[in-house]
Amino acid sequence: MPLRAKVASSVSRTAAALSRAAGRGDGSVIGGWIGLKIDPELLAHLAAGRSIALVSGTNGKTTTTRLAAAAVGVLGPVATNSFGANMPTGHTSALAKAGHTPYAVLEVDEHYLAQVLDATEPRVVALLNLSRDQLDRAKEVAMMAQGWQTTLAKHPDVHVVANADDPMVVWAAIGSAHTTWFSAGQRWHDDSWVCPECGSPIERAEDQWWCTGCPLRRPQPHWVVEDDGVVDPTGAWHKIVLQLPGRVNIGNAATALAVAAEFGVRPTDAVSRLGGVASIAGRYAQVARDGRSIRLLLAKNPASWLEAFDMADHAPTLLSINARDPDGLDTSWLFDVDFAPLRGRQVLITGDRAYDLAVRLDINDVPFQHIRTFTQAVAAVPPGRLEVIANYTAFQDIRAELDRVN
Ligand SMILES: [Zn+2]
Repeated sequence: MPLRAKVASSVSRTAAALSRAAGRGDGSVIGGWIGLKIDPELLAHLAAGRSIALVSGTNGKTTTTRLAAAAVGVLGPVATNSFGANMPTGHTSALAKAGHTPYAVLEVDEHYLAQVLDATEPRVVALLNLSRDQLDRAKEVAMMAQGWQTTLAKHPDVHVVANADDPMVVWAAIGSAHTTWFSAGQRWHDDSWVCPECGSPIERAEDQWWCTGCPLRRPQPHWVVEDDGVVDPTGAWHKIVLQLPGRVNIGNAATALAVAAEFGVRPTDAVSRLGGVASIAGRYAQVARDGRSIRLLLAKNPASWLEAFDMADHAPTLLSINARDPDGLDTSWLFDVDFAPLRGRQVLITGDRAYDLAVRLDINDVPFQHIRTFTQAVAAVPPGRLEVIANYTAFQDIRAELDRVN
């Protein structure tokens, strides 16, 4: 590396360490920010010489990144931004901290994919899904897909691993010369009823989808989730045993295996490593408290709430909603979620915006009880399972209340 980059990298590591020592988070954002101030090309310098995979999409990036890093780890040390700092500052910090690793798997915020592709020149880009998120500031889904398509056209050599079940992702990736398709299922369809290419309606039957006005349709996937396992491109089925709940995470495992395969990792060598991934930054963590087994599920937008209802046991459920800066300020998306799957469960609500949730549940005919603290919630449910579904800062609040770190 050039001297300037070496200095920037060293200062970046020191700043992150100081931030951690001062108890101000994991330091990855401030460390990366300072490093990039000293050398704006630092991310490119740190990426040079490594084989890199980027993972982007609205939902599932943190989990899929963790699983893919575990799978690529078969080959040797892997740098990764495991705290979910998914903008260039976080990538810079993660690579500076990791030192010389031959591999890196990086989670990338969908708005920053173009910038990070330019800087890191990855071998593989995994595109998971696109759906509405943070309505007050995120791009519309079709605009995001268009941006991805334009970006990928500038990087014809990158290998794209993309979700065949999401029409927006397929359209974004359709021009790429090297594409591996995976099928992980898609529960949320409300951002892809209209073809992004021609504006005609998209129709669906079983797991197929097609545009009624142009040739855009679901490509034949190479990797497919089947029962509790994954079928690889040779047709071999691999049982997936995870510590993470839900079919959505088997889909994330399929994506991780497809990414690792691009680095030459055989699925038979990688599957056992996937089972070693437990809670991710507190997500899916299980905590025992006063005879209750509490499980924490993070859900930030309508598509992820649908997945969370599917993952949760049929048990008392606490919902918590905030609308602070990291959550997005607009809670009108609550009206895009069908809460009917919660009927018949004991439902508790809390959080800064519990009343927004109350209105939505009332209209959706889901009875609920408003509580003010987590301790009250625990006292209000019988011994046994308590599921907690919360958006970003609400989730962090509950974690802090449970005094649990990772
Ligand atoms: Zn069309």
